[in-house]
Amino acid sequence: MVFIKNYNFVKDFTLGREVFNRILYPVHSYLIDNILIDSGPMTAEKHFLPLIEKEKDSIDYIINTHCHEDHIGNNLTIQKMTGAQIYIHPLGLDTLTYPKSLGLYPYQKFFWGTPPPSSGNSIPNTVTGNRFIFQILHTPGHSEDHICIYEPDNGIIFTGDLYWGQKIISFRPIDDFYAIKHSLEKINQLDIDAIYCGFRGRVEHGNKAITRKLNYMETLEKTVKAHAFQGYDVKSIVKRTLGRENYMKWLTNGQFSKENVILSILSQD
Ligand SMILES: [Zn+2]
Repeated sequence: MVFIKNYNFVKDFTLGREVFNRILYPVHSYLIDNILIDSGPMTAEKHFLPLIEKEKDSIDYIINTHCHEDHIGNNLTIQKMTGAQIYIHPLGLDTLTYPKSLGLYPYQKFFWGTPPPSSGNSIPNTVTGNRFIFQILHTPGHSEDHICIYEPDNGIIFTGDLYWGQKIISFRPIDDFYAIKHSLEKINQLDIDAIYCGFRGRVEHGNKAITRKLNYMETLEKTVKAHAFQGYDVKSIVKRTLGRENYMKWLTNGQFSKENVILSILSQD
């Protein structure tokens, strides 16, 4: 299933597997200038690839914000179709050539599929498109190889899975609360008008949204640590701060959980 939205210079493709007429766990892929940012999950290929076929002469680069299966799934097919060069942070290169190293769980295979191997290059600090020059920032936390792509003239930034909305819903065990916070602080130094998030789509008033999220994280961290200091166990802290676990934990073999958020916060004093 695919939805398309057009913004000034950006085409926004919302991709994912359809469940009961809606996309559960959407992933956004963006086309700007001659660059496709993230190639989406394999499970969207039937609807997504014909749309890319129409744009194939204008795509010279595929940039992956990080090496997760829902962002690299159509790399190979789109590269064959367009002849585009694939760029990713050096820490993500090995996963592109051997995606099985992601060790996908059944829910990931169902929602996004296992990507075929593709070959990429280490992304330089800037990528020059036909129209814009993009700055690349290393923003680890959601994954070690995570990058954001910033276009300063229009104040827009593509944030992959770094931002993910105003609040933290849940974490996988690999999500690192403190590294995410640090990366958000890093991008908030930039002048950001709009965020193009891999999960939420376009978010207006970028700096305000990031500042709100950072304030939320600060408060959450203080509250969680105060509860731990008072002697509450992890499960009670989850309920007191983020509420009960929901269907996501059950659906994802326990991978996406609120408990993981609390554990990450408590990993540092
Ligand atoms: Zn991800």
